Formats: sequence, structure tokens, C-alpha cells
Amino acid sequence: MDYLPAFLDIADQLCLVVGGGTVAQRKAELLLQAGGKVTVVSPEISPELEEWGRSGRFAIRRKRFTADDVCDFTLVVSATNDTAVNTEVAAAARQHRIPVNVVDSSELSTFIFPSIIDRSPIIAAVSSGGASPVLARLLRSHIESTVPAAYGRLAQLAERFRTRVQHELETITQRRRFWEKTLQGAVAELVFAGHKQEAEAKMESMLRAEAAGRTTTGEVYLVGAGPGDPDLLTFRALRLMQRADTVVYDRLVSPEVLALVRRDAEKIYAGKARNEHAIPQEKINHLLARLARSGKRVVRLKGGDPFIFGRGGEEIETLLEQGVPFQIVPGITAASGCASYAGIPLTHRDYAQSCLFVTGHLKDGSIDLNWKQLTMPNQTLVIYMGLLGLEQLCRQLILHGSSPDLPAALIEQGTTPKQRVITGTLSTLPKRVETEAVRAPTLIIVGNVVQLRDRLAWFETNR
Ligand code: SAH
Repeated sequence: MDYLPAFLDIADQLCLVVGGGTVAQRKAELLLQAGGKVTVVSPEISPELEEWGRSGRFAIRRKRFTADDVCDFTLVVSATNDTAVNTEVAAAARQHRIPVNVVDSSELSTFIFPSIIDRSPIIAAVSSGGASPVLARLLRSHIESTVPAAYGRLAQLAERFRTRVQHELETITQRRRFWEKTLQGAVAELVFAGHKQEAEAKMESMLRAEAAGRTTTGEVYLVGAGPGDPDLLTFRALRLMQRADTVVYDRLVSPEVLALVRRDAEKIYAGKARNEHAIPQEKINHLLARLARSGKRVVRLKGGDPFIFGRGGEEIETLLEQGVPFQIVPGITAASGCASYAGIPLTHRDYAQSCLFVTGHLKDGSIDLNWKQLTMPNQTLVIYMGLLGLEQLCRQLILHGSSPDLPAALIEQGTTPKQRVITGTLSTLPKRVETEAVRAPTLIIVGNVVQLRDRLAWFETNR
């Protein structure tokens, strides 16, 4: 280990920044954020720093640095573009045994600044020891993207309960289990969703239950898994998948997405093909409630977005009736995913001012749509579950006034490496699709925007 990571308390401590440009300003701001009292020394000062000096945020000494400037300071940062000055600052600070950082020079520094992920009071710091600052920054953004913005608030909540937990739970094991449960489970998710009071109440009831040796009700997360490409998951979806005790998933959830579920989570498959549900809907609704009541964190993983042709509403009704807490995580719906990956904008100033999502398949197997509405000009029509009825759909649209030459596309297994797009018109598409061995899921897009694909297709061509 080349450096000792440590966190300095510089609240109300005098800190010196040598330099008057933007780099000096950034360092001064950072020191200020940590509560330091900052003095900036430089013969030239940027207008912005000057302004801040006037507002009293920093003390500014407009002069050339001299060695005795470092006296009285707890910390020194040199951020000038003059190597001679930087060397002088470093020497003076070392002589007085004051920790010094010279920006971009680990040789002259006695400490270095890491890349910071700030979720105060939680702070993570990453350093490459000067070997590759870009790599450290990349790792930082990786952590940034996986640690929820409200992590700090979770830490504050935990702090408020700390003493009580220590008093009410006897053993270390009990306490650890309690914290693991609350900080990764329902309490954490409530904090991340901005429900502070509910989070506090949940923590309270979990503490009481734990102290009495009871199990508490878990929670159901109705999560949209997106159209297939695992990169299209939301951060929230991924986090919940990695924390789940049980995952109940649909046929539409791609194997790549499923592979991201916590390895030892119980995985229950809940959907077969169209019309042939592996588990009937009613049973799924009750299964979710039962699992949650036994204390499990249940992720109900659905293709696309749970509230778009996903029966999300029905599943929640049952949870509501049984008083099981739940959260809903939106996903990228097939229309958005397929349109983007096929290079077909759903709206366009020249071609479509509105966009309609419809299902080509009803509960009883028939197609009963508002054809008048569907054939309106200047709109895009997106048809989910339309493969089987494709021929009939196109025929009805033409019968109700759409041009037989209206462009249409069928996107097969959109956003996945197997994506295929078949284009044509209302009159030609059904035949074209018939000659190809098309595999579900498929989405149909009808409208003039489909022409744009000729120029905007990018996904298949990039592979
Ligand atoms: N809740 C889902 C839709 C469920 S209905 C969502 O928001 O996307 C199932 C239909 O979605 C399929 O019949 C198909 O029309 C469409 N679909 C879902 N994923 C798809 C994909 N990767 N490619 C093409 N169509 C898809």
C-alpha cells in the first residue's frame, strides 16, 4: 500500500491554497465543503475567486508566495502552474511538517486527493496513487452509479436508531442481522424513494419485531426489466434484483437480465407462452402476497414496463387488499426500446405528432380496436402482441382508411443481439413476415416515421 487512506477533520482549521486559477478554486471549494477556513495566496486572482473573496467565503492575500506564508496552517495545497513556486511551497510545508498537496505532482506532495463519492455522512474515496487518475475516476463513476443518491440520508436514519438498537437488541449477531435487513431492505428502499416518515416507522416496527423475535412482513417490488438488453435496466431495478430473496419472473425477461439476479435468490418462473400461463394470474397475485408475508423481499420481474400491457395493476390490487407493502419500478417499455434500437423515432416534427400504444390481442383472443382512432393521420401506431393478428390488423387499417402504402415495421426480439427488423407497408408487411421464421416477442410500428430507419438504423449495422 503506497498511501494510507485516512479522513481528516478540518472543520474550522486554517487551510492554505496557493494559486489563483480554476484549479486552485476547485481545491479551495473542496476544503470549504469540509468546513475548512481557507486562505488563498496568489499575485493574480481569477474574477470568480475575487468575487468569493469579497463575499467573505475565503480570505484572499494578493501577493507572491513566500516560505513563511505556510506558518499557522494545518493543511497546504499548491495549485499554481509554476513548478518553481510549487516546489517552494512543498519545501516550506515539509519544513514545518504541514501536510501538503501539490496538484498533479505526487513527488512534491505528502498527501494526495482521492476521487470522491459524496453521500455525506457516507464518503467513499478512490485513488490510483497517481498511477492513473482517469482509471480512479472511472471507478468513481462506477460507484456513483450504483450507490443511490440518498445513501447519506439512510446513514442519518441509522444514526438516529443506533443507541436504541444497542439497548434493545442483546447480541452482536442480532444487531448485525437487524442492520443488514433494514439497510438493504424495505427501510432503505423507502428512504431512497423519499418516504422519510414511512422509513422511520418501518425501522421502528422492525426493531420491535426483532426484539420480540418475530418476523416482519417483507415487501414486493414490481420491477420493469426493460425489453431485453440488460444495459437498459434502471439502477433501481438492478439494485433490487441483487437484494431479492425471491424473484418471480415472466417469459419476456431475457436470460441476460435474469443472470443479474442475486445468485442465491429463489427464482420462480411465472409465465409460459401467450394464453398458456405456467401459473394462472390469480395464483401469481396470491403467491406474491404470501411470499412477502413470510418476510421475503420479493422482486416481481416483468418485461418492459410493468404498467404497460403488463398486468401490473392487477397484481398490486391483491397486495393492496392484503396490506402487503409494495413499490413499483418503471422499465423501458418495448415501444421505446425497439424504436430506438431500430432507428425509428416514435414522433417526428414532419411525420407524427402523437403516438398510440395498442395491444393486438385481447383476453378472449379477438381484435377489437378503435379503428377510426388508429387510422388518424400524422401519428405513429405501436402494436404490442400483434404478430398473430398482423394480417388482420393491416387489412382492417386499410379498410378503415389508412393508405396501403403506409410504412410499417416488425421488430423481432428488439434490443437483443438477435434483433431483426422487417420493414414494408401495410399491404406488404404481412407477406414478408410470413416468409421469415419470426420468433416472439415482436412489436409492430406503423406510420411514416418508419421511413426514417433507412438513415437512422444503427444497432444492427454496428454489430
Ligand atoms: N410490459 C411490456 C409489454 C408486455 S406485452 C412492455 O412494457 O414492454 C408483451 C409484448 O411486448 C410482446 O408481445 C411484444 O409485442 C412486446 N415486446 C416486449 N419485449 C419485446 C422485445 N424485446 N422485442 C419486441 N417486442 C417486445
